[in-house]
Amino acid sequence: MMNRNKALVVFSGGQDSTTCLYWALKRFDEVHTVTFSYGQRHETETETARMLAEKAGVDFHLIDMTTIASIGKNSLTDKAVEMDAERPEDGWPNTFVPGRNMFFLGAAAVYAREMGIFDLVTGVSQTDFSGYPDCRDSFVRSMNVTLNLAMEEQFIIHTPLMWLDKAQTWALAERLGVFDIVRNWTLTCYNGIPGDGCGHCPSCRLRSEGLQKYLSDKGNVLKTVANV
Ligand code: ZN
Repeated sequence: MMNRNKALVVFSGGQDSTTCLYWALKRFDEVHTVTFSYGQRHETETETARMLAEKAGVDFHLIDMTTIASIGKNSLTDKAVEMDAERPEDGWPNTFVPGRNMFFLGAAAVYAREMGIFDLVTGVSQTDFSGYPDCRDSFVRSMNVTLNLAMEEQFIIHTPLMWLDKAQTWALAERLGVFDIVRNWTLTCYNGIPGDGCGHCPSCRLRSEGLQKYLSDKGNVLKTVANV
């Protein structure tokens, strides 16, 4: 019988994956994290992930994926590319790292399998502002099938945030009792500033808009995540 009491969280140390980490801790007896280094502008991202994993008392594993920055161009890994503030009309903003979640989930599954783990958790959200194609539910389902076929296993990819907006993700953190940890210690800012961040990059704007929306209507937003 396959052990379904263990989970591996794809972990970046940001608001979403940290909320997912605590979501997983409520549901699984044993939780591990995997973080990818892919040439992010700020090394502080992987250090933040390591610190948050320690804080949560879970195992932390870093995998080098810098190769994805060498084969595709984007503004998260290339300092010479100026970051798009908005999604352009004719495509994805250049903060999109082509193939990122495909590589991450593929590597995470191989690593999980080594440890006898078949439940993967990722913080992707279809409601996410940029609508990156590899954050969509259809992609994750397709990748799940692909992983099962590739390794002849029964992986389950859990996506607790898939249908939540940022305000609801804050509410979920509150419900899990980790609102303060997520607010003060996670790193979402593209300029590498933890907590509330720089306040003006696209990621900070999204995060703070969600936070304001949540704080101004707490009771109602909390109700919407009661069953997540
Ligand atoms: Zn910022």
